[in-house]
Amino acid sequence: MSAKRIDGKAFAADVRAQVATHVARLKEESGLTPGLAVVLVGEDPASQVYVKNKGIQTREVGMNSFEHKLDAATSEADLLALIARLNADPTVHGILVQLPLPGHLDSDLVINAIDPAKDVDGFHISNVGLLGTGQKAMVPCTPLGCLMMLRDHLGSLSGLDAVVVGRSNIVGKPMAQLLLAESCTVTIAHSRTKNLAEVCKRADILVAAVGRPEMIPGDWVKPGATVIDVGINRIERDGKMKLVGDVDFASAVEVAGAITPVPGGVGPMTIACLLANTLTACCRAHGLAEPE
Ligand code: NDP
Repeated sequence: MSAKRIDGKAFAADVRAQVATHVARLKEESGLTPGLAVVLVGEDPASQVYVKNKGIQTREVGMNSFEHKLDAATSEADLLALIARLNADPTVHGILVQLPLPGHLDSDLVINAIDPAKDVDGFHISNVGLLGTGQKAMVPCTPLGCLMMLRDHLGSLSGLDAVVVGRSNIVGKPMAQLLLAESCTVTIAHSRTKNLAEVCKRADILVAAVGRPEMIPGDWVKPGATVIDVGINRIERDGKMKLVGDVDFASAVEVAGAITPVPGGVGPMTIACLLANTLTACCRAHGLAEPE
């Protein structure tokens, strides 16, 4: 039987609509408009597209979008000075520095210069520590989106075997922390994992965040498992460019219980969660009730 497709596009539209409703209420009741500042250094084409989409969606939910486009040769001192200004600006509730940064800039230094309360990407070491110790954190957007889809589909995740393939700081590790906090039994796999197929086959929840086109075939998937495919890989097939995930959708869909497609799965949820985090940051900054 073919798996249920988890529709990230529709889910993300719901999340954005809820954020927009909350933003409208904030404006009416408190005169507040949440603001998101996005900093782009250089002209990486994929980053330019992401930043443009973030700006459009931020304005669509009624928030202020502040876009700062800096030259690729911008010095670290100038970038840090901009971040200090944004940290001090009361109209800015969220700050996102688009990664990757050009090679002469130290990403860790730059990210850790952001006020943790405005770190809507959840990459600051304070937020990483808060998440790891089960305290109130800013949670990285992509894993947060994955968790929302998992909860929506499965309800309680308690006791389930979860396998996360990939251990990056932006997806794999925070995803594993979130699943652990949901009382899953979590395995993190990576490029040195032995018998990856066997490890994946144990998973009730399989999250793939690798960046290798279609590397996980259907026969690595436990029958009935919920598969979340974070991978976004651009490949050429039949003379056309195409986006595919890290999971071989065609074979996995025959085995899984539910699966996210690529495109239209995890991707749209990421920006929706960024907007939700910005709203949360605004509410926290003003001591107001946070959105559910
Ligand atoms: P990274 O390159 O930072 O991490 C990839 C991880 O995959 C590493 O931990 C690596 O292991 C592991 N890996 C590589 N090869 C293998 C292998 N053969 N077997 C098992 N594990 C392997 O990538 P990201 O986490 O940043 O991104 C992963 C994917 O998710 C990419 O396709 C990216 O485009 C996508 N992405 C999608 C987002 C969205 O909004 N949907 C947002 C962010 C990312 P090791 O650590 O040992 O090297």
